[in-house]
Amino acid sequence: MAVSKCRRLSGGALRELLDSVESVLFDCDGVIWRGDQAIPGAADVVNRLKKHGKRVFFLTNNSTKTRGMYADKLRRLGFDAAEDDVFGTAFCSAAFLKSEAKLEGKVYLIGSAAMQQELRSVGIEQVGVGPDPVSGAQADWAGVPLDPEVRAVLVGFDEHFSYMKLNKALQYLRNPDCLFVGTNTDTRLPLEDGKAIPGTGCLLKAVETAAQRQAVVVGKPSKFMFECVAGRYGLDPAKTLMVGDRLDTDILLGSNCGLKTLLTLTGVSTVADAEAHQRSGCDVRLGMVPDYFVESVAELLPALQG
Ligand SMILES: [Mg+2]
Repeated sequence: MAVSKCRRLSGGALRELLDSVESVLFDCDGVIWRGDQAIPGAADVVNRLKKHGKRVFFLTNNSTKTRGMYADKLRRLGFDAAEDDVFGTAFCSAAFLKSEAKLEGKVYLIGSAAMQQELRSVGIEQVGVGPDPVSGAQADWAGVPLDPEVRAVLVGFDEHFSYMKLNKALQYLRNPDCLFVGTNTDTRLPLEDGKAIPGTGCLLKAVETAAQRQAVVVGKPSKFMFECVAGRYGLDPAKTLMVGDRLDTDILLGSNCGLKTLLTLTGVSTVADAEAHQRSGCDVRLGMVPDYFVESVAELLPALQG
C-alpha cells in the first residue's frame, strides 16, 4: 500500500491526473447533485471535460430511474448528457439478466416501474411490480400461486415492498435453478440534515434471509457495473478515473477494477473514514482508500479552464 494514497488533489497534480485519463466515471448523488440540486460547478466540470475530449459516464446504484429519466434530470440541471452516458442499476440489471445470465423466462421483480421498463427494453417480461398486500390465511401463503415462467428474482428499490412480496420471492427461490439478482446493497439513502431512509440493501437482506441464499449483486462495488460501460465503449481501466462520495461502493469499485479513484466530500464518506481504512491494514478495507480527494468536484474547474 503506497503511503501516498488519499492525497488532497490540487494545482499541477490535478491537471496531471486529468491529462492521464481518457474517461471519467461519476457517481451521481453526493457527487454531481444532492437530491434535486446540482452541486455548484459540477455541470461546468462535466461539460468542460467533454470539451477537452474526455468521455464522461454516470454510474449510479439508484434503481428507481431509467436511463432516459436520468438523462432528462442531467440536462435539466445543466449537464451535457445523453441516455447512453448513463449506467444505473435498473439498466445494468436488465443488461446482466439478458447478456450475462442469458435469462430465458420471466423475472419476479421486487422493484419499480423504471426497472420494469428497462427489462422490457431488452425483451424480458416481469411480474410483481406494484402493491401486493397480504391475502388469504397464513396456511395458504406457502402455496401462493406462482407464475411458472419465472426464472429469476430481481430485487431493487421497491416502495411497495411487503410481506407477501418477501413470501413470493422465497417461494420462487426455493427452486435452486431460479436466479437471484440484486441491484445494490446500499443500506440507507441519505437525505439532507443527516436524515436517511432505508435503502435497497435492507430489502435485499430480507429476501436473502428468507431464501437462505445470496444474491448476485450488479451495482457498485461489483465489477459488472464497470464492465457494463467498459464492454460497450472499450475503456482502458488504467486511463479511467472513478469519482465518488462513498468508499464502500464508488471507491471500492474503482479499486476492484484497476481505475484511478477520487473521493469528493460533498456526500457520505469523510477523509477520516478513508484514513481509518488505510490504518486497518485489512485488504478489503484498503480497497476503500481513494487515490485522491477533493472537497467538491468544482475543484476540478481550474484545471479545465482555458
Ligand atoms: Mg453517491
